[in-house]
This record gives sequence, C-alpha cells and structure tokens, in this order.
Amino acid sequence: MQYRVDPKSGNRISALGLGCMRFPGAPGRPDAKTADAIISRAVEQGINYLDTAYLYPGNEACVGASLERLGLRDQVLLATKLPHASCKCAEDFDRFFDEQLRRLRTDHIDYYLMHNITSPAQWERVVALGIEDWIARQKAAGRIRQIGFSYHGSAADFLTVLDAYDWDFCQIQYNYAGERYQAGTAGLMAAAERGLAVFVMEPLLGGRLAGKLPPRARAVLDGARDPHLRTPAAWGLSWVWNHPQVTMLLSGMTDTAQVDENAALADRALPDSMTATQLDAIARVLREFEKSNRVPCTGCGYCMPCPKGINIPGCFAAYNASYAHSWFTGLSQYFTASAVRTSEPKLVSNCVKCGKCARHCPQHIDIPGRLDDVRRRFQPGPVTAVLKAFGKTRSS
Ligand code: SF4
Ligand code: SF4
Repeated sequence: MQYRVDPKSGNRISALGLGCMRFPGAPGRPDAKTADAIISRAVEQGINYLDTAYLYPGNEACVGASLERLGLRDQVLLATKLPHASCKCAEDFDRFFDEQLRRLRTDHIDYYLMHNITSPAQWERVVALGIEDWIARQKAAGRIRQIGFSYHGSAADFLTVLDAYDWDFCQIQYNYAGERYQAGTAGLMAAAERGLAVFVMEPLLGGRLAGKLPPRARAVLDGARDPHLRTPAAWGLSWVWNHPQVTMLLSGMTDTAQVDENAALADRALPDSMTATQLDAIARVLREFEKSNRVPCTGCGYCMPCPKGINIPGCFAAYNASYAHSWFTGLSQYFTASAVRTSEPKLVSNCVKCGKCARHCPQHIDIPGRLDDVRRRFQPGPVTAVLKAFGKTRSS
C-alpha cells in the first residue's frame, strides 16, 4: 500500500480509502458480517481511512459496531459528515455530532465534513448559526481532529467555499471523465495550492468507468495491452493517483475480492507515474465514453425514493446503456428497472414532476426533464406496445 501525507495534519493516509456507503444489505441495514469482512480485509491490506456519513442509512451504526467488534478503531482514521442542511440552530450541531459519536462508538472523529456543499450560501447559513465557534470548541476538545467539506457544486463556487474558512481538507468528485466537472482539475489544483489534503470520491463515476464502461471505450483499453493496467478500474484509479495533488481516493468496495484487487493497484499508486502512451489511451477512451454519457448519473441514489416508485438511477442507467450498447439492451434494462413484468409497473411516465428528487441530486441533473428523454426513448411507442401485448395497460 502506498501512503500519502496529509499536508495539514501530517497523517500518513493510505492512497486507497474505504467508502462504506455501498456496503451490501437490506435498505438501511447493511449486513454486519459483510461489513466486518470488508473492513478487516481493508485494514489487513493497509487501508487506514474509512468514510461514512450521518445520511447513509444505517451506515454509521454498522461501521461503529464493526470497528468495535474487530477492535480496529485505533488503527483507522474515521471520517463522517454533518447533515448541515438539517441544522436549524446551533444546538443541532451538538445533537447530530453526539449521535454520530454514539453510532460510531468513538470519542472523536478524525476527519469531519460538511456533507455535500453545493454553494457558498450553504456554508454562510451555518456560519450564521455559529458553526465556526462550534468547530473551534470541538477541535480544542479533541472531538474533531480535521475539518473539511465534501463538494458537488460548480467550479467557480468551489473557490469561494475554499476561501471562506480555514479548512484542513476537502473531498471532491474527480475522475478522467470529470476534469471540467464540479471542482474539476482547477479545483484540485487550487485546494492543493492552499495546502489542503484532497480526497477524491467517485473516481470511477459509480462504476461507469469500470465494469459499465461502453464496449467501444473498453476496446481502446483492451487494445492498449498494458501489463500493469488490466481492467478499466485499474486505468481509472491509476489516472486519479497519477495526480500528486490527490491525497487519497475513496472506493466504495462491496466485497473482499474488490478490496484485494484495489489494494493491489494501490501498491503501485505513485504520482506522475503514467506514461504518455497510457495517458493517450485514456484520452481516446474519454472520447468514446462521452458519446454515450447522455445523463451524468452516478447511481448514488440520493434522489430516491420517488413517491411514484420510479427507479430513477436505474432508468438513467438504461438510457445511457441504450447509447453505449444497443437500444435493445437499454430497453431490457428499462423493463427491469421499471418492474414492467409486475402488476404495477413504475414507468417514467408516472412522474408527476413534483421535483422532490432533483433537490437532492449532487450532479444537478434536471431529473424530471431527463426522465422525459427516457420516456421519449422507450415510451410510449415500443414499451406501451409491449405492455399492451402483455395486457398491462395500467402503465399510462
Ligand atoms: S419529479 Fe418525478 S421522478 Fe422526481 S420524485 Fe417527483 S415523481 Fe419522482
Ligand atoms: S439522478 Fe442524481 S441523485 Fe439520482 S442517482 Fe443519479 S446522480 Fe444520484
């Protein structure tokens, strides 16, 4: 495992961090045995950074219980996030934070983040509630070690947020398909110049740069026949690690095999180590990827649940697949995502445009508008015809 130094704290952080959000299990109840297996294997492999959040259902409690059972709390740097949008007064900071410490069965958080800042106004709102004093008190008491924010807003706003407080670190979405998206490369450089540790999330764009890479893009990588980079995930992660400004990248690993695979890659995670030939291959992959990236949905699920039962990320995945693979592939995925074979299909045409989903999308997708695109691609013609053939006319 390669380690990089957090310039603010001096902590040696594994180049690969464990994002706990995608632990398998029932909704709101991550499977404890699987969590134990993933966390213990991650630590065995040298990973020393774990990331969770108040808003990941059941996740903080699961991580806390696992660390306690495994006796590993002292071997990892633990990160979690304040749901600042739910804080209406200064007392709420304590209320959420105390609950997080209880859930995580710890007396301090190593890296504490304002969760999902998308505009300077969000930070200004909690400043007005007194968060700066609150942070200072928690740091003085040793309950928060490093303070930062995760970000999903525009590049310009990122600089404003960056300079609005004396942050220790930030967490940005970054991957080879997102150099000019959100904070992007300009944001990465600006944060590093200010001496912040920079943690990267979505290095593989929710798997879209890994197993879900369109065939034509994948063919470019296969054709490169690189002995070290054998999978699309290896290419994507290595591209992020190639940036010396990146302190650590988070991967939401869901089984121990993934931990082993990614840890092996992290063994060679040296900055500035990719060759011109490798970088040229990435540029060619990107050109192919962008042809099918019609909706930039990462599948995070923050927009769910939809009151009409629409599987929003599933529908967008089907839509993109219809360009990346074939229209029939997309339609088949859309059938599955919409539960078309059940008595109550959840078709995109059920959308009442209430807008509840779009408010939560970190990618700022106009969800109801883009679902209209999905409807036009798969409905009413082809899908409705098939539904009628099956006698499922309730879809309208
Ligand atoms: S706008 Fe449509 S998709 Fe979004 S939550 Fe409302 S009904 Fe569901
Ligand atoms: S539409 Fe937005 S919030 Fe919903 S899964 Fe996709 S990226 Fe996440």
